[in-house]
Amino acid sequence: MSKDYKCPGCQNVVDRGATVCGNPECRKDLAFCSHCREVATYVLVDKGTGRLGRDKYRCARCERVGVKCVTWVAGGYCNGLARTGDRWNRALCSACNERLGEVGRTVVGWTLIGALGGLIKPRR
Ligand SMILES: [Zn+2]
Ligand SMILES: [Zn+2]
Ligand SMILES: [Zn+2]
Repeated sequence: MSKDYKCPGCQNVVDRGATVCGNPECRKDLAFCSHCREVATYVLVDKGTGRLGRDKYRCARCERVGVKCVTWVAGGYCNGLARTGDRWNRALCSACNERLGEVGRTVVGWTLIGALGGLIKPRR
């Protein structure tokens, strides 16, 4: 199932995982919103404070607030805005959640879960 995603700024087709629009005259920051499941521009609404604070962003399409997916923050191939909500949703965008679901209980999955656990819940 393929779907074309368009940059909200210039209406060019963009990659589902693009973090920035490829059009040199646009170059908007893009994210994949877990709420409306669209590639969207976003604005910072709340600066995270403290070591574990996460910046909150508002999707320009559906105006719901999300946080950057942990995979993205960690430098992985992801441009998802995760829903704020329970801890699991908060950590990963819908795409990464699905990917983890597919991967199942593999080593990769557990490594990522371990990394997330360390990030969210400081070990004492
Ligand atoms: Zn664009
Ligand atoms: Zn949205
Ligand atoms: Zn993600």
